[in-house]
Amino acid sequence: MKIRVAVLGATGTVGQRFLQLLEGHPWFEVGALTGSERSAGKTYGEAARWVLDHPMPGAIAAMPILAEDAPLDTPLVFSALPSKTAGAIEARLAAAGHIVCTNASDHRMDPDVPLLIPEVNPDHLELITQQRKARGWSGAIVANPNCTATGPTMALRPLHDAFGVTKLMLMSMQALSGAGYPGVPAYDVIDNVIPYVGGEEPKVESEPQKMLGTLYGGSVQPAPFVISAHCNRVPVLEGHLECLSLAFVRRPSLEELVDVLRSFRALPQELKLPSAPAQPIIVRDEPDRPQTRRDRDAGRGMSTVVGRIRPCPILEYKFVCLSHNTIRGAAGGSLLNAELMYSQGLIR
Ligand code: NAP
Repeated sequence: MKIRVAVLGATGTVGQRFLQLLEGHPWFEVGALTGSERSAGKTYGEAARWVLDHPMPGAIAAMPILAEDAPLDTPLVFSALPSKTAGAIEARLAAAGHIVCTNASDHRMDPDVPLLIPEVNPDHLELITQQRKARGWSGAIVANPNCTATGPTMALRPLHDAFGVTKLMLMSMQALSGAGYPGVPAYDVIDNVIPYVGGEEPKVESEPQKMLGTLYGGSVQPAPFVISAHCNRVPVLEGHLECLSLAFVRRPSLEELVDVLRSFRALPQELKLPSAPAQPIIVRDEPDRPQTRRDRDAGRGMSTVVGRIRPCPILEYKFVCLSHNTIRGAAGGSLLNAELMYSQGLIR
């Protein structure tokens, strides 16, 4: 018997990725879809403007889209709702006993909500106990991070463990799909780079420290390093490419740094979770990789690809990091969170 799941905001960019990734999933199957007033009451085929190259899963087109406040009978809920709309809906569902795996930012920095990347901080799931106690919920909310914070945090996990990160500067080149659909007008972004992504820099400058923080006495002590981020929108469809410069407590040799990144494996690989990539971090040696179009699908879009690792004359080392924003940075990341929770008996 598969676990039935609902996808909230199923017609959007992230909602569509969920439906693609859930097709043929060994543990989960789609049982309900919700949308805004615009779509509720229509079938998915009528309401959705399908934008993925992968075809719409056959059985989905005829499913009805429920209103945002419809009662759900699915133990697991994936939320691809817009921020601000998401917060109250997700809290209501968690109170009603659902496990809500969310992409929205509303609850990410709540002290009792795990902000989870399964390779980075699986132990933070313990926060669910505090969350349930404090809020009187039988369900729970578990968030995945901002898509621009995801790739760097994956790369930082083994580096911080081995050498202690003290400072990080990063500059992002972010895909259009990160803005949802219809997103940024073509007239604004073709032949252009926009040096501003609303609300992004504060998230990128604070979420990694929560994920790399230490669980102590039922709460997370954030990791004590500083981040400065420049976030830019560039005319590619998928994949956030980021240039990072870092300093460490103990400066490693170049060989040590490369080896620590390349050999990183974690709990999802050990448990062989269905969506876990064999290599969470892939290190490329070519001087001109990773490239967004050529490398974003590495590990079925679940691996972080790192390259151009070299000394930095201002901080200590610098490199380029690529992560697929709608797969690992959104729907795929949420799905892996749910797989980890299922493997630990938190979803029944
Ligand atoms: P999107 O393409 O704009 O889709 C938004 C979805 O939410 C649509 O399905 C829309 O339904 C639905 N919706 C809007 N208002 C609603 C309401 N009041 N009640 C119920 N449903 C409502 O946005 P997206 O890019 O998929 O992003 C979804 C969430 O994921 C956001 O919180 C975003 O910040 C986060 N996120 C996105 C990415 C990314 O790369 N895109 C990455 C990480 C996190 P209708 O079509 O029916 O109007």
